[in-house]
Amino acid sequence: MRHSTYELSDTSKIVSLAKRRGFVFASSEIYGGFANAWDYGPLGLLLKDNVKAAWMRAMIQDRDDIVPLDSSIILNPRVWEASGHVGNFNDPLVECKNCKKRSRGDELADGKCPYCGGEVSEEKQFNLMFKTFVGPVEEDAAVAYLRPETAQGIFINFKLVQTALRLKPPFGIAQIGKSFRNEITPGNFIYRTREFEQMEMEFFVMPGTSDQWLEYWVAERKSWYERFGIRPDNLRLREHRKEELAHYSTGTFDVEFKYPFGWGELEGIANRGDYDLGQHEQFSGEDLRYFDEESKQHIRPEVIEPAAGASRATMAFLLDAYDEEPDGDETRVVLRLHPALAPYKAAILPLQRKPDLINLAKNIRGTIRKRYMTAYDETASIGRRYRRQDEIGTPYCITPDFQSLEDGTVTVRDRDSMTQERIAIADLVGWIEERIENA
Ligand code: ATP
Repeated sequence: MRHSTYELSDTSKIVSLAKRRGFVFASSEIYGGFANAWDYGPLGLLLKDNVKAAWMRAMIQDRDDIVPLDSSIILNPRVWEASGHVGNFNDPLVECKNCKKRSRGDELADGKCPYCGGEVSEEKQFNLMFKTFVGPVEEDAAVAYLRPETAQGIFINFKLVQTALRLKPPFGIAQIGKSFRNEITPGNFIYRTREFEQMEMEFFVMPGTSDQWLEYWVAERKSWYERFGIRPDNLRLREHRKEELAHYSTGTFDVEFKYPFGWGELEGIANRGDYDLGQHEQFSGEDLRYFDEESKQHIRPEVIEPAAGASRATMAFLLDAYDEEPDGDETRVVLRLHPALAPYKAAILPLQRKPDLINLAKNIRGTIRKRYMTAYDETASIGRRYRRQDEIGTPYCITPDFQSLEDGTVTVRDRDSMTQERIAIADLVGWIEERIENA
């Protein structure tokens, strides 16, 4: 797999490719859009699903010590009192006295309105949780929240999961799902939206060992992005300063990505100590400690949390993969996505629209699609069809030609090097699998 060498100066090329090729659309566009919301088109959904699958595989399938969970989006509101979100999950809001636009007080460069340079109001604390009502009456007693993070669903199920699966620390519980934050200033495409997807894992460890586990997870998570193709130059680690730490954290590192608009968070890895389990014990009255058979003691584990954004990671993979290179008088646009992340693993492109070739192409597709998502295209010249696949990141184009009808081989063209080799049709699935695994 070859890395991109292209530096994007802003996100506009990605936003336009994403729309043109069906990755991401501005939500509710026919009504003029809505509040920086975005919808995932067919290819964007496949890409995001592959990002989530790669995370699940690294977290669960390839390890012995982490199990998955899917908790509710709307939880008992007491959960958010215990977690500190009702009291602390605030951003400082300011309003411009001139243009009336709202901004985040902590993001103003010179204390002035970022839109018109006007004077801004005093900061007001603004809680980022979305409120809703459960049941038919809209009264205070029925207030509930859409979760602003998936983590609390893990903490409140900690004891049930630990008991049901007879787990001993160190062990982890991982969850992927939607979270909601009423962000004051969403923006930058899918970087910051009010509805987004998170991939979070809470790793429960014996008291006194959390510092070394924090180090372990920071290294592990940074290398995951590199393994799936992010250029090492576009990644860095940043340790939070003491005054920046969230109320629950004794140490946090961000994995940052170089977005066209500057370095920004991709994932946060925090040492949450025993804060959350302790809070839920206090608020629920339940003993959430784990009984350690060896020491015959009740123990409250400490927690390391790698918290990533699935939608934000999808954006980073897209930005990092984007490449342009000269192609005669034209420009070849290639998404150099890791093959495991590419929406389609292979495109089957019969050389000509002849019935024998089309039949063979459809048979080949029938075999490969049992394992992988495939595309099929019999329109336009073969060169044009290769370019269409390059632009959406399809790593392998398979072309049955007249020789195929005689000897059962096809050409396979590689997206990155554009080299072609002849492969026996019977070997194709194994050939693709080997390349995806070793990319
Ligand atoms: P930021 O500082 O960017 O607001 P955060 O530190 O509040 O992020 P966390 O609470 O650590 O974010 O959430 C973990 C991850 O969830 C982030 O690293 C990011 O990838 C993702 N995330 C958080 N908020 C959003 C959002 N509004 N839109 C998209 N992804 C988000």
